[in-house]
Amino acid sequence: MKEVFTYDDLLLVPQYSDIRSREEVSIETDLDDRIHLTIPVIASPMDTVSEEDTAVSMGYAGGVAVIHRYNSIEEQTGIIASIISAEEDCLVGAAIGVTGDYLERALALYAAEVDFICLDVAHGHSILMKEALETLRKKLPEDLHIMAGNVATVEGFNDLADWGANSIRCNIGGGSICTTRIQTGHGVPGLQTILDCARSDRNAKIIADGGLKNSGDIVKALAAGADAVMLGSLLAGTSESPGRLFRSATGELRKEYRGMASAEAQMAWRGKVSSLEGVAHSVPFRGSLYTILEDLERGIRSGLSYSGARSIKELQAKAQWIRQTGASQVESSAHIKVR
Ligand code: IMP
Repeated sequence: MKEVFTYDDLLLVPQYSDIRSREEVSIETDLDDRIHLTIPVIASPMDTVSEEDTAVSMGYAGGVAVIHRYNSIEEQTGIIASIISAEEDCLVGAAIGVTGDYLERALALYAAEVDFICLDVAHGHSILMKEALETLRKKLPEDLHIMAGNVATVEGFNDLADWGANSIRCNIGGGSICTTRIQTGHGVPGLQTILDCARSDRNAKIIADGGLKNSGDIVKALAAGADAVMLGSLLAGTSESPGRLFRSATGELRKEYRGMASAEAQMAWRGKVSSLEGVAHSVPFRGSLYTILEDLERGIRSGLSYSGARSIKELQAKAQWIRQTGASQVESSAHIKVR
């Protein structure tokens, strides 16, 4: 059986660096000729992560948000319009499904001048995805960027690319609020999916989605071949996120964060629960999204410099991996013993 790895299983080996300052390092990435990000971070299409305020701050910081689809077409296009009036140059994406109103929604979002649409389903390597992508490719202009997913294998990645996706969300079952692997027994560890999809000869971009706990994991995803990462929990605790802010029993300020396949989210947007593959939780309130992104950006730049790399492409070419034992995983996190 194949040996597979996720973020905590592997480390990048530090290498000789002729970089004198983090400022010499570029962490820019292009999803296509028009979608240029100065920080390779995308906010997840979830109702406790990405609405107007998150999108404006993400755009301002050089990343992008994908507006979730758990709303009416009018509400979603209204959010897109208010983002583009607040900040004309702000890049923004929007999610759609692969059944129901997906075509009407895609046409409305295109008319609202969204920069890309994202076909957002749990198991993207499916006939429904194939039919939806083929239909959208016929009905929408060729140059509209389509993101799609999620997939867990290079076979899935290649098929979605061949069906018309420009960028593909990779990872099934790795999100912090996800119970897909428990409920269904299916999934592939997140970092392994990126290593596998990076072997593809297709031109589609790789989005490492879910399970990223810190800037170190982001550096590992980029080194493994991702063009950008997609974050939920790391961005859910900000002032900008739409989740409810509350004070816990111990007096701590927290924000609600829930999987879109949790009972709570399904009840809120379709009034019933079908398959249950997520949980509702909360994360500590962490203040402005901009500050969080600055911290992540510093960590990512430092990460590249440890491999002696001035760009994401250089990091991917230079990356040297080693496997961690259980003892080294303990050593890798703060482990001081208080006597
Ligand atoms: P996180 O950054 O680890 O919190 O993961 C966020 C990612 O989890 C999202 O971008 C989705 O791909 C995925 N996701 C969101 N909601 C659910 C769910 O209810 N079940 C499984 N995966 C989910």
